[in-house]
Amino acid sequence: MNVSYILLLLALLPSTSPFHLFPPPRPVLNLHSSQKKFDCVIVGSGLGGLTAAATLQRLYGRDCVVLEQHEDAIGGVAHSFTLKNSAGPFQFDAGPSLLTGLSRPSYNPLRQIFDLLSLPMPPMIEYDGWKVQSKGEMKDLGLEGEGEGWVEFEVKTGGGGFGEEIERVFGREAMKLFTEFTDLILEKNGLYESSCGVPPFVLRGDKYAAITLTRSLPSLLKIGPKGGKILTSSFDKFYDSFISKSDRNPLAETFLRNYFNYLSFALSGYTMERTQTAPVAYMIGDLHLPGSSVNFPEKGTALGGIIDVLVSGIKEKGGTISNSENVKSLILNSSNKCIGVRSNDKDIFARDGVVLNVGIWSLPGILRETLRIGGEFDEGFLRERIEHAEGKHVKNARKMFERAFLTICFRFNTGNE
Ligand SMILES: Cc1cc2nc3c(=O)[nH]c(=O)nc-3n(C[C@H](O)[C@H](O)[C@H](O)COP(=O)(O)OP(=O)(O)OC[C@H]3O[C@@H](n4cnc5c(N)ncnc54)[C@H](O)[C@@H]3O)c2cc1C
Repeated sequence: MNVSYILLLLALLPSTSPFHLFPPPRPVLNLHSSQKKFDCVIVGSGLGGLTAAATLQRLYGRDCVVLEQHEDAIGGVAHSFTLKNSAGPFQFDAGPSLLTGLSRPSYNPLRQIFDLLSLPMPPMIEYDGWKVQSKGEMKDLGLEGEGEGWVEFEVKTGGGGFGEEIERVFGREAMKLFTEFTDLILEKNGLYESSCGVPPFVLRGDKYAAITLTRSLPSLLKIGPKGGKILTSSFDKFYDSFISKSDRNPLAETFLRNYFNYLSFALSGYTMERTQTAPVAYMIGDLHLPGSSVNFPEKGTALGGIIDVLVSGIKEKGGTISNSENVKSLILNSSNKCIGVRSNDKDIFARDGVVLNVGIWSLPGILRETLRIGGEFDEGFLRERIEHAEGKHVKNARKMFERAFLTICFRFNTGNE
């Protein structure tokens, strides 16, 4: 499972800017008592924000507040909601549904955080696969025949039965390619084992990568420069080098490519050209090593599930979670350190720092508003971060999402699907 973090560390560089006037003073949020200052302010109550708050509160003893814009929902993408009809109330879960490595100690980052913070993982239902249905041109689905068609198959986890299923639907050659490729990744000292030693969240794409990577130095040394390069490069490079060496039938390879594009998309929202090898290799192990399975919390992800445990874990140690907090901008001092945020029309201050985990949709707006209001900070410093937050990577993600959304709307409007 991939839980992505967007941590904005604004306390690193000294100011070089000319003097700017502070914005006019604003009322201060009164969460407990007047003039309350927290050690850490965390913006966004998604899995990222809550795990950051739980870690800071429980492991580092920091007094944290989590600010969430929604009136009542907590959990961000991973929230539950209830609808009622004459048959009674029904609880629905939004967001993540394909979860692995949660039911027992594993390399799953979320499971590791729960174990580290002594938080109880809620009871999980374990299941051994799921059904995939897809429609398209037969050749694009990896099937013999002309024109459009449907394909239906079961992804079977835990090392048993998936090969047979691939052979049944896509033929013997596709099964052989799949087995060879996954063996290559899962074999001892292969990419799976290496990827476990280098957690996905240390593989960042910016200039601070060297700082986070040093923590995984022992594992990196074991992998060697070549292994490290493979793990941090896009997965298509590794895939293509395997395919170019194999004696393949293009139709048989189509299934393999579709399957790994699908896994890549589940991890990063992109196909394999834009997904790093490490998380894909890790996911292949999580799904296809003997004994592995897929999990789902018995009571759902949010209510009574993972989100509830995180919320209780934060509150138990004195942390605060506050809804209806629309954070519009940041407060930066003359050293470019983020010392607080402006939520609605109030200022909330942080002694140690601010974690902004609001997602790519909100982040640029908050930074731009900070720049518009101005302050003592260095504008160039902030502009650089805005550029990063609005970079090509983010713009592409937005375009992909908007295209997918338009396609869904279009289909609803025409009434065809
Ligand atoms: C439909 C879907 C299915 C998915 N399926 C899976 C899956 O099967 N397996 C898996 O591992 N992962 C899955 N993911 C990915 C996973 O759910 C996300 O990576 C994860 O939940 C993101 O958590 P987050 O905390 O980073 O962000 P979010 O959950 O987006 O949280 C951001 C929070 O910030 C709040 N916020 C935004 N702006 C402001 C503001 N100005 N002021 C205050 N609050 C603000 C938002 O309201 C939100 O609550 C899925 C994602 C989606 C969308």
